Amino acid sequence: MATGPRSPEKIAGSDFRQPKAGPEGSAQDRPEPPPPGDFGPIYIGRFAPSPTGSLHLGSLLAAVGSFLDARSRGGRWLVRIEDLDPARVVAGCADEMLRTLEAFGLLWDGEVKYQSRRTHLYGEALESLRVAGHTFECSCSRRELSGEDSGYPGTCRGGPRRSGDSAIRFRVDETETVAFEDRFQGEIALAMGKLGDVIVRRRDGVFAYQLAVVVDDALQGITDVVRGADLLESTGWQIALQRALRLQTPRYAHLPLLLERAGDKLSKSRRSPALEPGRAGVALLSILRLLGLSAPAQLEGATAGTLLEWATASWRERPLPLAREWILP
Ligand SMILES: [Zn+2]
Repeated sequence: MATGPRSPEKIAGSDFRQPKAGPEGSAQDRPEPPPPGDFGPIYIGRFAPSPTGSLHLGSLLAAVGSFLDARSRGGRWLVRIEDLDPARVVAGCADEMLRTLEAFGLLWDGEVKYQSRRTHLYGEALESLRVAGHTFECSCSRRELSGEDSGYPGTCRGGPRRSGDSAIRFRVDETETVAFEDRFQGEIALAMGKLGDVIVRRRDGVFAYQLAVVVDDALQGITDVVRGADLLESTGWQIALQRALRLQTPRYAHLPLLLERAGDKLSKSRRSPALEPGRAGVALLSILRLLGLSAPAQLEGATAGTLLEWATASWRERPLPLAREWILP
């Protein structure tokens, strides 16, 4: 791996944990982070599954895509387990996922990070947002918001409507359009008014994905996020949060979503490739085909490790997928 090691838990260009005292305790005085994507030759990618069920075809596609993208650039590839929601975490699932990655030859660098052990970091980021006036308490129930087409109507922006436990939302600038160049999807522009104020800590105290992922990507020095297009819209919130926390924005590349037919999610039977022990090579071949890499005939029956070696060399040459969705044959 050609990239120089970074000191762990150090944020490039910023550190939200040490806010300087501004005129109103604000973050105004802190230096601007470097421009998005300005990482020089460093590449650090990651795969960040939630241990709520076995890795399915879509998550394996994201794992293989991010792995190949990192390795083909001589980069590091990290694994982070997004296990913040105790109600959804399945016991033993994270270990099973790691064993599956190993069976596929997707060997990660460094130690696996578990979000459930990092909640103090999310708390510090949330406090920094609060001090800078970026958050508000929201007492709306899911039912009260169920009629909304999109976003959040701003009901509690002036204060929660009820006392008691509240969620905490990040206040977006509804006049803002967050634009970024997605390496696979091209120019993306997301109207923040349509996305709405996003929950960063739930009413039950669980930190929300959007906050945790931003903090972890920054603390782990992630330069490149390769993931499924189901998270494309979330990128708007994540970039807005990075700006509010003065964190550098990584490069994004969203892989197409896998669909059964136009508009249809994958059926259960199609979601999981066969993963019998020793058969990972066969499943990997079909995943590589989805990624536009058709292995030559002599690689039929090859081990996962051999296939990944070939695929890593081929990845750089392949045309970028520009579809938002892939419909399985
Ligand atoms: Zn509310």
